[in-house]
Amino acid sequence: MTDLPTRRLLLVHAHPDDESINNGATMARYAAEGARVTLVTCTRGEEGEVIPPALAHLAPDRDDRLGPHRVGELAAAMRELGVTDHRFLGGPGRFRDSGMMGVPQNHREGAFWSTPVDTAAAYLVEVVREVRPQVLVTYDPDGGYGHPDHVQAHRVAMRAADLAADPAYRPDLGAPHTLAKIYWNRVPRSVAEEGFAALRAATGPAFPGIADLADVPGVVDDELITTEIDGTAYGDRKTAAMCAHATQIAVRGRFFALSNDLGQPIFLHEYYQLVRGASGAPAGERETDLFAGVAA
Ligand SMILES: [Zn+2]
Repeated sequence: MTDLPTRRLLLVHAHPDDESINNGATMARYAAEGARVTLVTCTRGEEGEVIPPALAHLAPDRDDRLGPHRVGELAAAMRELGVTDHRFLGGPGRFRDSGMMGVPQNHREGAFWSTPVDTAAAYLVEVVREVRPQVLVTYDPDGGYGHPDHVQAHRVAMRAADLAADPAYRPDLGAPHTLAKIYWNRVPRSVAEEGFAALRAATGPAFPGIADLADVPGVVDDELITTEIDGTAYGDRKTAAMCAHATQIAVRGRFFALSNDLGQPIFLHEYYQLVRGASGAPAGERETDLFAGVAA
């Protein structure tokens, strides 16, 4: 364990592309600074909709080859961010994308949503005890916007954090480890509003429509934000990583769209809510470093 980098960050996401949209600049920053950045993606995103017509045959109702394709997209995105440690929970294809809430795929064999939380969490405990991160980033209890795989990723991440620290739990999975800090992905409402205002005012290549602010995961009142990462210096990396997810994301300038073709802003500052551990910032101020106050 002595050869681990001093700072270690673990991010838990539902599908390939979520990491780049939510945390691309943060991941690029910490990778560039020499921290160990570990991404665990819970599914291969098999139920996603495919944007490029030439790749439409990959879709689950046709060849059902989107999962393996998105493994390649994720690898390309991680090269853009400089992140070398990226894994699928339980291995690629262990848990399948559950689709949007209420569809029959929620309950198919192997769907992440219908997997017992403790079953999935055991795989994450093994990663936590191996990597021994000080900081965990995941979603809020609503998964940011209610997608079943995002809700489940939250539950699994929070459960694994507790189980990994418990010496009585599965000693075969490694020595117990306690995370110093846990964050949920957030976007301050004022920042989302400004981003959409910029999108409406933008000239140049536009999308057919503009998304609703409610479509942005994790938007909350500004007061709930504890931590702000200025990722401006890594904006090109983040944008390139998003472009690597070409089946899912279309990027134009400082904006992007998902398969609904509705424009959204790309946020170069990334925001978090500290939900476990002590803030490393003076009272009333936002942290500017996820590791603030963490003992080396
Ligand atoms: Zn997702």
